[in-house]
Amino acid sequence: MSDCLFCKIAAGEIPSKKLYEDDRLLAFYDIDPKAPTHFLVIPKEHISGAGEITAENSSIVAYAFETIARLAKELGLSSFRVVTNWGEQAGQSVPHLHFHVLAGRDMTWPPG
Ligand code: 5GP
Ligand code: ZN
Repeated sequence: MSDCLFCKIAAGEIPSKKLYEDDRLLAFYDIDPKAPTHFLVIPKEHISGAGEITAENSSIVAYAFETIARLAKELGLSSFRVVTNWGEQAGQSVPHLHFHVLAGRDMTWPPG
């Protein structure tokens, strides 16, 4: 999608601090971290968010979580939280599916 920020980051048109990349997804550090470790995992394919997961595109979700588990091990994270916001009320600000991975501090529950 030509006017999507995360499509541009996935294409390398906008720079990011990359943690991992392959042909299907990209992991990069959040520009405004909310925890000592805060990175985002996005599919390279444009999916607008968790509310648009279908039988046709859902395999990327499993692959994203597989990648998150591997990266967490590589980073030595013993605990982490995965968050995805869908829609304005939930706080989604970039309409391209992304999983926040937050770690390195105590977290409260429920989230605000
Ligand atoms: P959302 O609010 O949609 O759940 O999450 C979007 C996230 O993208 C936010 O945490 C925000 O800090 C991050 N973000 C927005 N623009 C950029 C950018 O240009 N580069 C990076 N690395 N992160 C960004
Ligand atoms: Zn996009």
